[in-house]
Amino acid sequence: MEFYLLGRLPEDSVSRMESHLASCRFCDERLVREISLLPLSGVVQSATSLEAEKREERRYDTEEAVSLQALSPFSVERYQGKLADVSRNGMKIQTAVRAESGTLLKISLKNVIAFGEVRYCLKRDDRFHSGVRLTHVVQVRSHHR
Ligand SMILES: [Zn+2]
Repeated sequence: MEFYLLGRLPEDSVSRMESHLASCRFCDERLVREISLLPLSGVVQSATSLEAEKREERRYDTEEAVSLQALSPFSVERYQGKLADVSRNGMKIQTAVRAESGTLLKISLKNVIAFGEVRYCLKRDDRFHSGVRLTHVVQVRSHHR
């Protein structure tokens, strides 16, 4: 599950695990618990890594595209969003689809995977603006998503 969370599982194992997670609430709950058990070597202070990511974002002078997946309730679907703002323990994202508050999201950025809970979701124009409170941020070296 740890490898799954960090995007290090081979493709066939991913689909096997996802079809199970989609139908087994027990394992989905386990997956959520697993986030808090991610190895310390891979977990960095959220402030540090997000500051780095923010600097990078500024360098490109553009809103960074992020890949989103709901882990609880679990969904196999990935959807795209834009990173609008980053703070010490939260981020604001813009998406084309609504993110229900209370949903636990996996947010994949270029070098960081962040886990957090949707606190609110507002519709503005034709996009949804969500605030996410981050619980765990993991630095990844590869560009895998
Ligand atoms: Zn199960």
